[in-house]
Amino acid sequence: RTVYVNGEYLPEHEARVSIFDRAFLMADGVYEVTSVLGGKLIDFDGHARRLERSLGELEMKSPVTPEQLLEIHRELVRVNEIEDGLVYLQITRGAPGDRDFAFPDPDTTDPTIVLFTQSKPGLADSAASREGIKVISIDDHRWGRRDIKTVQLLYPSMGKMMAKKAGADDAWMVEDGAVTEGTSNNAYIVVGNKIVTRQLSTDILHGITRAAVLRYAREAQMEVEERPFTIAEAQSADEAFVTSASAFVMPVVEIDGVALGDGKPGPRARRLREIYLDESRKAAI
Ligand code: PLP
Repeated sequence: RTVYVNGEYLPEHEARVSIFDRAFLMADGVYEVTSVLGGKLIDFDGHARRLERSLGELEMKSPVTPEQLLEIHRELVRVNEIEDGLVYLQITRGAPGDRDFAFPDPDTTDPTIVLFTQSKPGLADSAASREGIKVISIDDHRWGRRDIKTVQLLYPSMGKMMAKKAGADDAWMVEDGAVTEGTSNNAYIVVGNKIVTRQLSTDILHGITRAAVLRYAREAQMEVEERPFTIAEAQSADEAFVTSASAFVMPVVEIDGVALGDGKPGPRARRLREIYLDESRKAAI
């Protein structure tokens, strides 16, 4: 596999990053994941815009322009012959000579930029998407700026393991009695014709897929309510689902051992998945 590191395309075993890189020592970096369907990028502009915002919130600057970023994405998809899969992008504050809590001077320390691809044949037609996934609830112990897409992913990773050990697929995190989001996705319930999902704030990541799906839901005459909801409310909802760049719209069929409805993916989640995939393929670049 060919990867991109600081201006160079290299075989993955030749790619090198310093042990002093602040992402390695302090998780001081941001990332994006853009999916690829049919060899094309889904919602690249949305991811590029959120990247700029994440960098700005952390007083960092991108070492490449948005045009260069698109070119790098496309080149990696091309050379690695990615039909369905994803492009992972990470920008970190770089590698100053010494470990120090204070940010290094941006004039003397360049950011590190790394991109690689992952091939995922059949990404849009997984067994999970046909059968739905099971989630458990866990306390949300993450930091308070979840709107910044940083590489501090230890707690979500622990949450995923808690879910696996409990025989489930993922975890929904709960704070002050209400669901924030999934370990790597935004969370929704469906009550009648209404889609309910938590409103945007620093409590959750502002999902690129979320923005598109809510737009399509409104266009399909579904009602959208942006507010917190509880696990009890979710367990008695008609349907539930999650969204992310790599899972698209993924039906949820069980929450903390309680099956939703007949335990099968609901019609609205299935419809939104179809619309999202159709529209995304059309707009892919
Ligand atoms: N919420 C969290 C915590 C995430 O990590 C992700 C994606 O990785 C999302 C939501 C979904 O965001 P997007 O739709 O932009 O992939």
